This record gives sequence, C-alpha cells and structure tokens, in this order.
Amino acid sequence: MHHYYQPEIETASREEILAIQNEKIVKQVKHVYENVPYYRDLMDKKGVKPEDVKSVDDIKKLPFLSKSDLREAYPYGLLATDLKNCVRIHSTSGTTGKRVVAFYTQADVDLWEDCCARAIVAAGGDKGDVVQVSYGYGLFTGGAGLHGGSHKVGCLTLPMSSGNTDRQIQFMMDLNATILCATPSYAAYLGESLAERGYKPEDNKLKAGIFGAEPWTEEMRRSIEQSLGIKAYDIYGLTETSGPGVAFECCEQKGMHINEDHFYAEIIDPDTGEVLPEGSKGELVFTALDKEAFPLLRYRTRDICVLTREKCSCGRTFVKMCKPMGRSDDMLIIRGVNVFPSQIETVLLNEGYTPNYQIVVDRVNNSDTLDIYVELEASQFSDIVSVNQAREKKLAGAMRTMLGIGPAIHLVAPKSIARSEGKAVRVIDKRKLHD
Ligand code: ADP
Ligand code: ZN
Repeated sequence: MHHYYQPEIETASREEILAIQNEKIVKQVKHVYENVPYYRDLMDKKGVKPEDVKSVDDIKKLPFLSKSDLREAYPYGLLATDLKNCVRIHSTSGTTGKRVVAFYTQADVDLWEDCCARAIVAAGGDKGDVVQVSYGYGLFTGGAGLHGGSHKVGCLTLPMSSGNTDRQIQFMMDLNATILCATPSYAAYLGESLAERGYKPEDNKLKAGIFGAEPWTEEMRRSIEQSLGIKAYDIYGLTETSGPGVAFECCEQKGMHINEDHFYAEIIDPDTGEVLPEGSKGELVFTALDKEAFPLLRYRTRDICVLTREKCSCGRTFVKMCKPMGRSDDMLIIRGVNVFPSQIETVLLNEGYTPNYQIVVDRVNNSDTLDIYVELEASQFSDIVSVNQAREKKLAGAMRTMLGIGPAIHLVAPKSIARSEGKAVRVIDKRKLHD
C-alpha cells in the first residue's frame, strides 16, 4: 500500500500534469514580465513577448537566469511582488560564492512546505512519527523547509537545528525520533557518534532519514543506512527555487521525483544552452510555475544530472532526476582530467574507509597536484609505517583506476578531520589563491 501526501496530483496522468503546467506557465510569464523589469529586459533583448509562451513547449524561447543574474539583481531586482506581500527571506549557503537572497509570500511558503510534506510521506512518514530536524535553522532553507513539511504531515516535530551532537543524541534516544532530517555528512557523523557512545543501530527508533543539500554517493547511503539502522532517502532543492523538496525520493530509492506541478525541469547542454532530449546528461534548469514573490524562469542550477520518465513502482508519475553528479563548478580539472569529488568518495567507501576525507588541489611548478587526506578508524589505525605505506599505495592505485590520474594519499589519525554539521567542505583548491 503506497501513501501520498497529495495523491491526486502525485499520481496524476502525464496529460493532467501537462494541462496544469500549460495553464500555469502562461500566467507566470505574464506575472514576471509585468513585475520584474530585470527579466522583462532580458525577454525584450531576446525578442520574446509573454504572448509567445502558450505552453511549456515554448519555455525554450525564454532567456536563462543564472547565479550571476541573482548577484547582479541583489537584493530586490528579481522580486515580483510588493515587499508588503512577502513574509519570509532565506539565503543560499554561499557554497560557491556571494550569497543570494530569496523572498516568499505566504502562498510560496505553503507550496514549499507541501513539497517537503510529500517527501516526508514518501519516506514513510505519517502523523505518528517524530521528526528530528537536524538541518540548520535560520537563513539556510533546510531547517525551515523540513520543519514546515513535518507540521503539514502532522508529525511531532523536534526542531533541533544542527550542532550540539550530545543533545541531538540525547533527544533522539529519549524522545524516540523516527525520522531524521539532516545533511548526509551530518547524518554520518551522528551515526559515528552513536556508535562511540556504545549504541548499536537497532537501539534507536529511527526508521528513515531524509538527507540532502549536498552531493552524496550510493556508497555513502549504504554506510549511513547501516550505522543508523534506517532507510536513507535523498531530497533535493535550492534556495533559488524555494529550498529542499523540489525533488524527493520514494520507496524505490532510485532517483528523485520532481514536483512537476510546481517546477518545470529541463536538461540543457551547459556549453550551448541547447535543450537536450530525455535521458541525456546535462545541466538542470528550473522554471517555477506558481511562485509569487521570487518566480525564477529558466534558472540554471549548474547541477549536472539526467531526467527519466520510466514508470515508478511507487505509483508517482512525476519525472525523476538522478542524484546530481556534482555541480558543473564542483568539477575539478586536474592536469587536464575532469575529476568529481563524488568519484573519490565512491572509491574510499568501496575500499573500506570512512566518509571523513578532504581533497586538496594545488599547483606546484606549473603542475597540478592532488592530495587526498583519508581518516582511519580507530580499529584501522596502525603505527607501523610499512603497513600504512602499503595501504596508501593500494588506495592510490584504486583512485588512479577511477579517476585516470594518481593522487597522493595521506592516511591520517582518527578524528583528525573536522566533522561537518551542515554542508561538508570536501575540497580545498589552493590554485585559486595563486590566481
Ligand atoms: P548554495 O548554492 O550556496 O549551496 P543552497 O543551500 O541553496 O545554496 O544549495 C543548493 C545546492 O545544493 C544545489 O544547487 C545542489 O548543488 C546542492 N544540493 C541540494 N540537494 C542536493 C542533493 N540531494 N544531492 C546533491 N546536491 C544537492
Ligand atoms: Zn517513485
């Protein structure tokens, strides 16, 4: 028996969804053209009038928006309604540069919380659950989004925010949390901390986790599922489109359903901007179909992924996106070779190491260097030099096979790499400092 938060829409036929999208886009383009001079100028420059957009097929005629537009228009330049109608502001984490801000009307907040509620129900949540929200509360969207979604489902909400790991564990155990919401790196840290305090995975009441806001691999999923004794579900979103909940995983745990009644997704070639056919890998672009205050049209996420419309056993009809393979600007080019941090994580976990690592890229004598610091668990730790050298050599070999270039591996003592409570900082690219 499958459960849905909004069954009519989540299982609607393709035709029904398209009809909804077509109706919304016509209104939305008009709304933006009339209220956002910044975007009106972009449309005028491209020679597109609101009347030219009669259905979602015509979205491809519209100009793109990118992070640089948001920075240029900061703070109010993309606001589409009177500030008096707004009830909330959030801001991006600033992972890749200056923060941008987003505005919400009450209807925008409702829509966003509905999306998060869909994610919670898809992860098996209902009124009887205790949802521990360990995403940060504040400007970051993670805490507020899942908190609102949890209320909508009627769960007992535990607004922990991130940090203070002792208290997280105390309340998780004492108050019988059943669903944990956090970044995957923080969830991994909580799993590790529980074990250190002598708890076994079956000692807690958790059944599911809803983890997102940063890239994580399938290997990381399995590792968290084991350490916490749960099923771990992915959730995706970005401040620019409202926050987490734009897409969420169902019981299949194979890709995330995009809430297509609210967000229209395209995959484009990041170099040419051309729309790619279904199943192609490219940059994900979103058009918000009914947001009022901050309705971005054709926003380029820089997240690289694939969309598929295969039938899903959960009964939902929304298109699915695969795990983002990292942002186009996360990709490291090292000695001319494209390297994604997620590839490094995959090798590490497959080789039996923990997800505590740091990647340092530098340029020495005009040549790029790649150093990977990998933390050992107490049980793996050895002070015999030859043992560690042999391990480093084996791991470097596995990396070379995956990446096409060989890194220098440094096995480091347990607990020597800082844990993250929010989004983990995995990469330090020192080349940028020299430029
Ligand atoms: P910032 O862009 O400053 O990090 P946000 O907090 O809005 O600000 O983060 C949104 C970004 O986080 C997305 O564009 C994406 O790169 C990443 N992200 C969010 N959820 C996931 C997820 N489930 N898997 C991989 N990456 C994710
Ligand atoms: Zn599904």
